Amino acid sequence: MSRLMRISIPTIRVVPQITPGPPPPTVAEAVERVVAFLAPGNVAVLTGAGVSTDSGIRAYRGVEGRYLNPNFKPMFYNDLIEDSPRGHSFRQRYWARSFIGYPRILATRPNPTHAALATLMRTSHVSQLITQNVDGLHHDALRTKDPELHSRILELHGTLHKVHCRAHHTVLRDEYQMQLALLNPYWAELEESFRRTGNKPRTNPDGDVELEGVSFDDFEVPACPECQREGKVEMVMKPEVVFFGETISQQVKDRSYEVIEQADRLLIIGTTLATYSAFRLAKHALELSRPVLLLNLGPTRADGLPQLEKMVVSSGPVLQEAARQLASSRLSEDANLREVLEGGIVTSIEDV
Ligand SMILES: [Zn+2]
Repeated sequence: MSRLMRISIPTIRVVPQITPGPPPPTVAEAVERVVAFLAPGNVAVLTGAGVSTDSGIRAYRGVEGRYLNPNFKPMFYNDLIEDSPRGHSFRQRYWARSFIGYPRILATRPNPTHAALATLMRTSHVSQLITQNVDGLHHDALRTKDPELHSRILELHGTLHKVHCRAHHTVLRDEYQMQLALLNPYWAELEESFRRTGNKPRTNPDGDVELEGVSFDDFEVPACPECQREGKVEMVMKPEVVFFGETISQQVKDRSYEVIEQADRLLIIGTTLATYSAFRLAKHALELSRPVLLLNLGPTRADGLPQLEKMVVSSGPVLQEAARQLASSRLSEDANLREVLEGGIVTSIEDV
């Protein structure tokens, strides 16, 4: 029986060193600093797993910067896309676990940090948002279909809400989930029974679960429907997230740098910056002499970098109040914006 599978996070993880810092600010002090930092506008924001923990999604690492799951074994990109019986059995295991875990990812809701950032995007204090999260909650928090706003979010490690084949046909994950259920009635029953009884396996941030003593041999992985229409059978299907051993596309990489270059400052929230794709963006901003403010509860890879300003605070209450102050004139006349700001809810990991 194999261990936990995990997706995304393309680079080697570094456990940050713990260095003593200044005492944490009060919420009021942190709000004052964040308001001053955001007030001039054109701020880029970079978020990580810590931003989604209030939505009941487990962070990869605890506040001490260590892995929460000692049995962590990533699934590698090359295994998942291998066009062979071995690759097929990797995909059976991946999709079976992901099939069980996905409904819970779908049930997660934006929290106050997502809501505050969505508000600040609408008021243009935040010009662009880069996230390492694959849960889609920054998009949900916008509470609009306005493509202009959604286009200002860059998902550095992709999204769980889409699936693609090797020809890059994209299928919405909701549709693929239905296909998985139709082809695998036994697994659909199992998933339902987990939901009914509340006896659910541990869900990982990437939407898969740990299942012990289960065989995946009979699990049917649906072929790409678009390839099928073209008369081909394409069985290699992969979620649109960056796996271990997979490189971020040049297009996404270029855009992430552009976001940093076009912004006047960078606010980093809820990330240890342990993955290099995120860390190098912080470094790039500092090299360009952009002010960088980092809010995180634990140590980070960027601690001690000259010119980096860090505050050890929980982002939810601070961002909510900062957004309330910065958007106050618009909030009084715009009921829709008030809905966006109040739209975040805190969910504990046990409730998801
Ligand atoms: Zn295809």
